[in-house]
Formats: sequence, C-alpha cells, structure tokens
Amino acid sequence: MGAIRLEGLEKWFGDVQVIKGIDLDIADDEFIVFVGPSGCGKSTLLRMIGGLEEISRGRLVIDGRDVTADPPSKRGLSMVFQSYALYPHMSVRENMGFSLKTGGAPKAEIAEKVGDAARILKLEDYLDRRPKVLSGGQRQRVAIGRSIVRDPTAFLFDEPLSNLDAALRVEMRYEIAKLHQALGRTMIYVTHDQVEAMTLADRIVVLEYGTIAQVGTPRELYEEPANLFVAQFIGSPA
Ligand code: ADP
Ligand code: MG
Repeated sequence: MGAIRLEGLEKWFGDVQVIKGIDLDIADDEFIVFVGPSGCGKSTLLRMIGGLEEISRGRLVIDGRDVTADPPSKRGLSMVFQSYALYPHMSVRENMGFSLKTGGAPKAEIAEKVGDAARILKLEDYLDRRPKVLSGGQRQRVAIGRSIVRDPTAFLFDEPLSNLDAALRVEMRYEIAKLHQALGRTMIYVTHDQVEAMTLADRIVVLEYGTIAQVGTPRELYEEPANLFVAQFIGSPA
C-alpha cells in the first residue's frame, strides 16, 4: 500500500502551464523529496497529488487505482503544511482527534489512535495543553499527529519545517526521518532546502520550471548531476 504513479501530469492556470508532463513512479514506503527553486511548481505538484489542485491532464494512480478525479478524502493521503493552523481553543488531544471525531469514530478508538500518535511524537505530556503554550517544534508535531491518526497510505509534506529556526529544523528533520522508519509509510516531501533533501530522501526529484530535471538517490545526484542546473542546485562540484 502506498505506491503512487504520476502519468503525464500537467497543470495549467489559465493559459500558463506550470506543470509540464511529469512521469514518476513512487514506491511503497519510499521517502521522495521534491526540490527546486521557488516557483518551479513543487507545491502545485504536491497539491495535485493530494487533490487540492485539479489535474489538467494526465493520470494519478494510487495502489493501482485511478484517483485522478477523486476528491482528497477518497485518496487516502494526508497533507502536512508549513503553517500548521491548529485550533487555538482546543487541547492538543482534541486537535489531534478532531478529524476522527467529525468522521464519527468511536471515542475509544480516537483515544487509542491519539495516544499512539502522541507516543511516537513524544507529545504524551502535552495532550491537555493548548497550542499557544507549545514551542514551534511541538506545534509542528501536533500537526503531524493530526495526520498520523488518520492512518494515511502516504504523507504529503509541503515545507513543513520552514517556519522553524535553524536548530529546531535540524532536530525536526531527524524526527521526521525516525517517523518514516517507525511508520514505514510513503512520504512525499517538498523543500527548497538541499540539506534537508539530501539527508531525508531515498530519492530526490529535482524540478525545474514544471519539468523533472533529474530523479535519483542523493548520492547519484551529487556524483552524477544530469546538468548544470542540478549540479548548482545540489551543490556538487560538476
Ligand atoms: P513552488 O512551490 O515550487 O514555489 P508553486 O507550485 O507554488 O511553486 O508555483 C508554481 C507556479 O505556479 C508559480 O509561477 C506560481 O506563481 C504559479 N501558481 C501557483 N498557484 C497558482 C494559482 N492558483 N493561480 C495562478 N498561478 C499559480
Ligand atoms: Mg511551495
């Protein structure tokens, strides 16, 4: 579960094409990172996968099922954003359980799933607190917790750490790597930070204005960049 295939994906905003035919096979449990400069289409592509942005052309297939026209709720994916938008009047526990509650899950099941996520994210001591008393890193963990409780087949992250200071970014990067190990789930992670990409990714997809400049392991990209754009972006000596 969690294999995602992108077939000739295109996105047009009016007569401007921002995603120009992307083909990619993402394996089950793979940690894929989309990198590229600001405006190259990373968020748009991620939102197309998540269903928040309509696919103009092409096909999206998840575990063999064509979900191109499906709404976000039917794709089994969960998105974590840079602005985590927690509900300020709810406790951490309520924030994490909210989507399950609105989905009609029984109380005992919500408690169990929130408890499990809190353990993984080291939030057990904070469950009864409000978001405003938490640190930035803890708030981001709560946002990730909201995704975990929904048990998605894949997680989609859009620059989840870019609001955090440098030290916290390093710590959270490590946390996200551990989360991937613990959950064994497909993760698609967008960043413009090369170091984040190199340390987290099984494979990196370098985007250059709506097309794929190169796909490969961090090592492949570093040692054999396909062109100057990739070399400059990855910071290798080519
Ligand atoms: P990135 O996340 O890599 O910075 P985006 O995916 O946000 O890039 O944007 C890619 C391009 O698409 C940019 O030129 C941006 O201005 C344009 N774009 C994004 N969303 C819209 C929209 N809703 N309407 C028109 N243009 C958009
Ligand atoms: Mg973006």
